[in-house]
Amino acid sequence: MICYLYEAPTYFFFAPDLPELLYYSHIPASVLALLIGFFVFLHARDQLLNKLLLIISVCFSLWTLTSLIAWTNVEANFVAFVWPFFALLSSFIAIFSIYFIHVFLTKEDVSFRLKLGFLALLTPVLLLAHTNLSISGFNITNCDAFGFEGSLYKGYYTLLGYVAMIWIATLLIKHYRKATSELRTQILYMGIGIESFLFLFTTLTFIGTYLATTGVVDDSRIELYGLFGMMIFMVFMAMLIVRFKTFNVTVLAPQALVLALLILVASQFTYVTTATSITLTSVTLVLTALAGLVIIRNVKKEIKQRKEIEQLAQKLKKANKRLKELDQMKSEFVSIASHQLRSPLTSIRGYASMILEGSYGKLPTKAEEVVGKIVESSTFMASSIEDYLNVSRIEAGNMKYELADFNLKDEAEHVADDKRQEAMKKGLLLTFKSDLDRHGIVNADIGKTRQILHNLINNALKYTPRGTIVIFAHDDAKKKKMYIDIIDSGIGMRADEVEDIFGKFERAHNANETNVTGTGLGLFVARKMARHMNGEVTAMSDGPGHGSTFRLEMPLQM
Ligand code: ADP
Repeated sequence: MICYLYEAPTYFFFAPDLPELLYYSHIPASVLALLIGFFVFLHARDQLLNKLLLIISVCFSLWTLTSLIAWTNVEANFVAFVWPFFALLSSFIAIFSIYFIHVFLTKEDVSFRLKLGFLALLTPVLLLAHTNLSISGFNITNCDAFGFEGSLYKGYYTLLGYVAMIWIATLLIKHYRKATSELRTQILYMGIGIESFLFLFTTLTFIGTYLATTGVVDDSRIELYGLFGMMIFMVFMAMLIVRFKTFNVTVLAPQALVLALLILVASQFTYVTTATSITLTSVTLVLTALAGLVIIRNVKKEIKQRKEIEQLAQKLKKANKRLKELDQMKSEFVSIASHQLRSPLTSIRGYASMILEGSYGKLPTKAEEVVGKIVESSTFMASSIEDYLNVSRIEAGNMKYELADFNLKDEAEHVADDKRQEAMKKGLLLTFKSDLDRHGIVNADIGKTRQILHNLINNALKYTPRGTIVIFAHDDAKKKKMYIDIIDSGIGMRADEVEDIFGKFERAHNANETNVTGTGLGLFVARKMARHMNGEVTAMSDGPGHGSTFRLEMPLQM
């Protein structure tokens, strides 16, 4: 039956006397909702969050379809049939919005009890939709049911909208408080989007129908503005998709989205006729195009940056894995070195020395020379192994230091005495001098300090082909420092090398001239140890051929 006010049936695009805003408010909002809803769903179908967004989008689109029918159709039976869907769909939107936010915040499904709660809230609307409590009659003249909607029923489902808003706001605030800063931005986007949608949609449809029912205005056209809430919601959803991958959608095709929007807005020119609508549509078109360009540019930039970061992270992960493997290998090597190499080497060196000293009878001169080489090589090998072990201990942070007060001058003198014979064998004169104001007491690990002095004096012996080596102990009472200088008349080094030689495996350019078997680790270890005990090792030289001075510096106690 055709409503009395109208002569002939009208359909969506041919109905006369419609508010100018009608298509403008309905079609873009619902298409945008469906577009984003399906886009998100199709990209990750197994995600509950994506399914819920699709449900909300579909319910919203069905609501706008129902509304368009109610506005444009004059078939009384048909309009009366679709009318109850307003209540049903808006209740679904409210409840599914709550469900959606729960899943968004907790990243998991809600409990069975809560689902039952949701169902309980929906039950009155579902059961009573087609009873007199929902609509008790139909206005056959105007083709609407405004005067016949049960106020209890209407009150209930409108209330559901506000319950959803408060419920969601409470949840968001609770999670916002304990969220990280990135999550906070996401919660904020989601909050602004969904709350503006629910607020505009619920409030303006309520006010619209209220005004129409009470006869203040002829129809409920104010509700048309409520639908723009969906646009706001979807824009925020799009930002969440692009910036935070909230819906596990890796790449949003921004061009496709913007193009669809432009076509959608432009398509309105085919049916808008009034000047206001044409202006509104034109402005929207320009704004959409501009916003679209900005979004596309930003998205592209962001995607590029993200890809780069992902690639870097991937590389870093690989490098880290390799490093861990190397570290493991190093540790294994260290344990092999210490246990498998050191012990036999000690025996070789010990027995060879005893043979050389004649403990097993007098050696022929030729053999003496060979055994001497065995002793020399194995001594070098043992000290190299010791260097390697020290380096790996230092790097692993496993080096143990036992600090105690001792007299550094006395220690330096002992080491000098130890080395004097070796120096004499090489034709070098090794002397010890001291010029102290204080006692020379330092607080350090005595074993490590001896090792440093051994390293420095050994080097002086190694890199001094002829001349003298002076060990000079002195102090600076004002600075509270104690110094042991090892001054040689050896090969010296270039100014640019005095720092480099403290690096791992570093040797000066002329090192091989006098000593081919160095590892370049001794000074590295010496400096690290000294620094660990608040001391320092430094080098000075007047240049190649002019000797060098190495200095051990320690804080003075007394
Ligand atoms: P190694 O002596 O095993 O090569 P070191 O770390 O002890 O390793 O020394 C690093 C480098 O510093 C040496 O290779 C040498 O070039 C230089 N160097 C060390 N001591 C002296 C010295 N007394 N005179 C000249 N050069 C030295």
